[in-house]
Amino acid sequence: MIKITTEEIIQKIKEKTSYSEEAINEMINKKVKQLSGLITKEGAARIVANELGVPLFNNFSGKLKIKNILSGMRDVETVGIVKQNFGVKPFTTQNREGKLASLIIADETGAIRVVLWNDIAEQASKIKIGDTIKIKAGYVRDNNNSKEIHLNERAKLIINPPDEKVEEAKYEVKRKTISELTENDRDVELKATIVQAFEPRFYYVCPECGKKLSLSEAGMVCEQHGKVKPQEAYVINLLIDDGTGIIRMVCFKEQVLKLLNKSEEDLAVLKDSPEKFDEIRRELLGTEIVVSGRATLNKMFGRIEFVADKIELPDYTEEEEKLKKDVESLPPVEESLVEENENFKNDKNSELRTESNKENRKDFENKGFEELDSEESHTQEDYFEEF
Ligand SMILES: [Zn+2]
Repeated sequence: MIKITTEEIIQKIKEKTSYSEEAINEMINKKVKQLSGLITKEGAARIVANELGVPLFNNFSGKLKIKNILSGMRDVETVGIVKQNFGVKPFTTQNREGKLASLIIADETGAIRVVLWNDIAEQASKIKIGDTIKIKAGYVRDNNNSKEIHLNERAKLIINPPDEKVEEAKYEVKRKTISELTENDRDVELKATIVQAFEPRFYYVCPECGKKLSLSEAGMVCEQHGKVKPQEAYVINLLIDDGTGIIRMVCFKEQVLKLLNKSEEDLAVLKDSPEKFDEIRRELLGTEIVVSGRATLNKMFGRIEFVADKIELPDYTEEEEKLKKDVESLPPVEESLVEENENFKNDKNSELRTESNKENRKDFENKGFEELDSEESHTQEDYFEEF
């Protein structure tokens, strides 16, 4: 079934009639009231659209603008500019191995995620950001209220088709502060400092559905798929702070490796020697990162958390160069300043100040994070992206 949201219905009515958004909303609310709250806002919107003679589903043969793409559609054709390329990743199931890739494309009406399976996924390695791609015979799935075009063996993907031109790409990763995050935020970027890092957790998942496996007499089993070949997974949880708030950030797989700057083999060492994480943690703390991803509501704790899609670490060489230049451009140090500096070093008070800062810090570490740190770390199960 093709899914359409209330918001999409309102937009369709707005396009096809002369009513303002406000007026349409009024009609919908009136309809809800008329039917004594027996129908949802979406149901009312459908009725209003019907009464106004606005078709909700076009006969969608041919090329679609991105905003007109709806969950449940098949044989979708569209063209967009590539704004993100998350790369090709292997996956294994009981019967076969395969590849998976994902991209975000945009046109002047909006942006959408494109998921490529197997043979067609290979092509993602050739796609650069800014390329125009044309998609044919894709099907649209809903993933957490977000639409995705999936391309399998039947689909076609053409990179930079000569006869297609997208004038504008409406896609922005919204930079937000932690305090501004809401549970439905996707494609949001945060700039924050790592203030706590928890040891990575290793676990096994079902290669078919990605859910955590449990151990039974028969071995590792998936609730849904039974006995499967376990696939190793790992997750790391961090607390990040941007001055407006602290949030728990969850990183899986590639993001873990990127963040820790480790290979999978290096990471595996931590399984047997978790104490080796101490050094890594020391390096992570205080690191400022730019991370894009999505917010998710942890229902158990009623709080918003952030799942990282892409982490950017500071470019140290660039930063160092900048620092060097800054230092070079400083006027020569005067002797009086050196003296002052020496005095400052010997100043007992300054030592005390440092000590008290340390105490505060310890206090914060012991108490401040307790609440955020008190529960079991999450696994991918909670955040599983339906692939
Ligand atoms: Zn499974």
